[in-house]
Amino acid sequence: MLSKHYDQLSTYRKSSATLTEPVTILADQFEATKIGFTVTQDKETKISWDFDSLKTTVQTIYAFALTDENSTLKRCEHCKGFYIANSSKEKYCGSACRNRHNVMKSRERMKNEDSHIE
Ligand SMILES: [Zn+2]
Repeated sequence: MLSKHYDQLSTYRKSSATLTEPVTILADQFEATKIGFTVTQDKETKISWDFDSLKTTVQTIYAFALTDENSTLKRCEHCKGFYIANSSKEKYCGSACRNRHNVMKSRERMKNEDSHIE
């Protein structure tokens, strides 16, 4: 569901300049029945969240990451998983995915070169 949501959001983000009114992406898909929190004071003021399920927890973290302008939530170009990027140029969730993707690209290049020879 998050994957589908992110794909739709990406499409709307690309055309955001032409949107005439706000668009709700996958309306009614986030259905938490309870999100509670407590605020405690020690040396610092802290908030503790209380979610009804792991699913709600993941969805809420996802929503905060999407809407935080300092967040760099991205999708890996190889495994399509979500990750927090260290820079806007990063394309892969880690070195394993980057290496696998480069191997695939070089194998494709070799295949194309072979077919030109024949
Ligand atoms: Zn990956």
